[in-house]
Amino acid sequence: MESETLVSDDNVMYDSPLEFMHEVAEKKGECVAQSVIPLGDGSYRCACSCEEWEVVTDDRWKGLELAREHTGSLVTA
Ligand SMILES: [Zn+2]
Repeated sequence: MESETLVSDDNVMYDSPLEFMHEVAEKKGECVAQSVIPLGDGSYRCACSCEEWEVVTDDRWKGLELAREHTGSLVTA
């Protein structure tokens, strides 16, 4: 199953899910990383490392856009 992750700072794409999880564990509660994970039925579950944001969308790029909106709104708050 293909998954995709991005980081709000520089949009680094992690090569390894384990590396991503390690980063998230260290930064728990902060909006440092968002994930877009295919659910297998054509929809995507988007979640943030702050654990306060999670959406399901039927379009991967929409999910990435929503993730950027989520982090962007917090960065400027
Ligand atoms: Zn967040």
